[in-house]
Amino acid sequence: MNVVELIERKRDGGRVEAAEWRTLMRAYAADEVPDYQMSALAMAILFRGMADEEIEALTTAMLESGRMLELGHLKVPRIDKHSTGGVGDKVSLILAPLVAACGIAVPMMSGRGLGHTGGTLDKLESIPGFRTRLTLEETAAQVERLGVAMIGQTAEIAPADRKFYSLRDATATVEAIPLIAASIMSKKLSEGLTGLVLDVKTGAGAFMPKLEDALKLAHTMIALGERRGCPTVALLTDMDAPLGVACGNAMEVEESVLCLRGEGPADLREVTLALSAEMLLVAGVASNAVEARQLLVRALDGGAALEKFREIVRAQGGDERVVDDPLGVLPQAKLRHVLTADRDGVVERVEPRVVGRAIIALGGGRTKVSDEIDPSVGVMVHVRPGAPPKRRCGGPFGWGRPLRWRAP
Ligand code: URA
Repeated sequence: MNVVELIERKRDGGRVEAAEWRTLMRAYAADEVPDYQMSALAMAILFRGMADEEIEALTTAMLESGRMLELGHLKVPRIDKHSTGGVGDKVSLILAPLVAACGIAVPMMSGRGLGHTGGTLDKLESIPGFRTRLTLEETAAQVERLGVAMIGQTAEIAPADRKFYSLRDATATVEAIPLIAASIMSKKLSEGLTGLVLDVKTGAGAFMPKLEDALKLAHTMIALGERRGCPTVALLTDMDAPLGVACGNAMEVEESVLCLRGEGPADLREVTLALSAEMLLVAGVASNAVEARQLLVRALDGGAALEKFREIVRAQGGDERVVDDPLGVLPQAKLRHVLTADRDGVVERVEPRVVGRAIIALGGGRTKVSDEIDPSVGVMVHVRPGAPPKRRCGGPFGWGRPLRWRAP
């Protein structure tokens, strides 16, 4: 295969065929295509876009670069959630145990920090001993036993995406709808799900700040899921300000534990409940939103979700004391600095990208694939933009408004 010719074709706005995507992604996963060529291709896609059929072909090619998680023998629905990425977005840490506590299997596969956003894997790994690198067999056994596993991509699952994801992070090519859609959906469709809920962030801290782009991304991913027989729902949620108070790996784990105890910030709890409710509805475990919410609030406030989180931490080798004494277990920053306003006024904006980039600059995120991160680094954003959280988070669509796929 002539990769230069494929790059030229994308650069000039042409189309790459399904068989070519398959050969290319297989070769890339096998280290037969250099990163510099894939970076050029990613940049050409970012500027030129891809036709819908190409996005589907790329997704399938990345999916088929690895194996599938085999969970078809389970008697319960298998549902996952994926976020397009944000700052302070720790929802997965609360949602996975919460939804599993409601009787749904959650084989959750997450990513590392990408661009200015944090990643669930980095957050989980700030718990001493926590292993996110489970094999497919270990993952399947844990999901069967506990109803949930929280893992990272291995060389077995969508390995082409694993490589491409890190490369895009280091080459400023994350913000392309076709690439985000193919990346997320290749991973999620490898999990053998019976349903998927997508959290598509919109606002200043999202990869797609503009609402129309976020909508396009949501529709693209919904179409990819539905065409492969996976019922897929998307919620557009606000990322115009960091979610919750804590931003930074270990601090976000602490806030997640607080939320699992019923004490977390209201905006974080609300987004988590909205996404979890969609999972219960897609699973058919609840027949309407009110019923879904009742089940979830019972599991959250009654302690079942917290206990499920403890089971996950224990099963994956983490220090389970994090559940009872997060501050005693999680790494703590040695230096702390309180920033106060030097005059009276109203906070108009809290820029999530600035917060995310500050965390990276302080060592809490990566600028190169090989960077080690300091999990104790973070920012507690105690100020909220002027309006009360409900209004601030409403946006033109507001939370909890699902986009459902309708066949054309
Ligand atoms: N999450 C992913 O898994 N991939 C992306 O490209 C962006 C967010």
